[in-house]
Amino acid sequence: MIEFEEFQNSLIRTIHEASPEGILVVDNYNIIVSHNHKFVEIWRIPDNLLQGSTPGTAIGLDDTPILTLALSRVKHKEAFLARVKELYENPELIDHCEIEFLDGRTIERHSTVLHGNDGKLLERVWFFRDITRQKDTEAQLTALSQQDPLTGIANRRFFFYRAELEFARSKRYSQPLSIALLDIDYFKQINDRYGHAIGDEVLKTVCSLCQMILREVDFLARMGDMEIFARLGGEEFVLLLPSTDVRQALVLAERLRKKVADHEFILEEIKLKCTISIGIAMLNSKDINFQDCLIRADKAMYKAKQDGRNRVEINA
Ligand code: GH3
Ligand code: MG
Ligand code: MG
Repeated sequence: MIEFEEFQNSLIRTIHEASPEGILVVDNYNIIVSHNHKFVEIWRIPDNLLQGSTPGTAIGLDDTPILTLALSRVKHKEAFLARVKELYENPELIDHCEIEFLDGRTIERHSTVLHGNDGKLLERVWFFRDITRQKDTEAQLTALSQQDPLTGIANRRFFFYRAELEFARSKRYSQPLSIALLDIDYFKQINDRYGHAIGDEVLKTVCSLCQMILREVDFLARMGDMEIFARLGGEEFVLLLPSTDVRQALVLAERLRKKVADHEFILEEIKLKCTISIGIAMLNSKDINFQDCLIRADKAMYKAKQDGRNRVEINA
């Protein structure tokens, strides 16, 4: 019997220490009953804080210093403390959440309670897992799925996703929403004359020039990054402008047009000039979906091309 108990204890100790998760066990008097090395590592706990308690042993320590240290590590302190209190006060609650640390890490926390044979609550067990790498990868994949690989700006898919949201918002709150379609003039000639690689560089430079203007415009800065500048495909770009009326859109489009037209492109010792044509439309009460507004912007762009290019046209 004793041998079996010894075996059980050894098994629990080994599992406890081999676990990839940080483990902390606290009884219902808020006394730390047990913890493992991984817990110390994740929370970066200094040696003196858990003095007298070695990982895996059951030496009782009040959990207040650990809680204080934890609060100094996490970003959202009030929410963290409120949830910990709630969990201690409600033993039946099972917890699963992600905690952002001030040092940039994200830690996943899972917490559950241990019951004795008679069903009495014995302890709360906390598990902590560092998921920073997983979160970073997820963020990178999300960014990639929304980005045009050549220019780094938003792609077509992300544009339409945001456009639908902004369309609905604009309708609901009766706020203006404008679109500007941008198309490079005679781009095929640039490709034909200088080659596809130079064409690609022109595309990238046009994007950078437009982004420069977008950063400078103060009514956009006040909106807080709500505008979307995206590559629809080929040498065609689109600008989604929430809370922007057609007059403001026109001022902005003129600045974009002029910025590109005034720029001397110097690419691999080749000097060239390039212009863009822009078609603008603003959402109106008859528009049933976002596409209706986009069609008007496309018509305006077509007119800008017909009327000689390097122009801005409106179809409000
Ligand atoms: P317009 O003034 O009427 O707009 O004339 P355009 O020559 O710009 O228009 P057109 O649509 O005939 O040509 C667009 C060209 O863009 C054709 C295609 O080869 C080129 N293109 C599309 N995507 C890319 C790309 O990713 N890189 C490069 N270098 N060229 C591209
Ligand atoms: Mg073109
Ligand atoms: Mg085109």
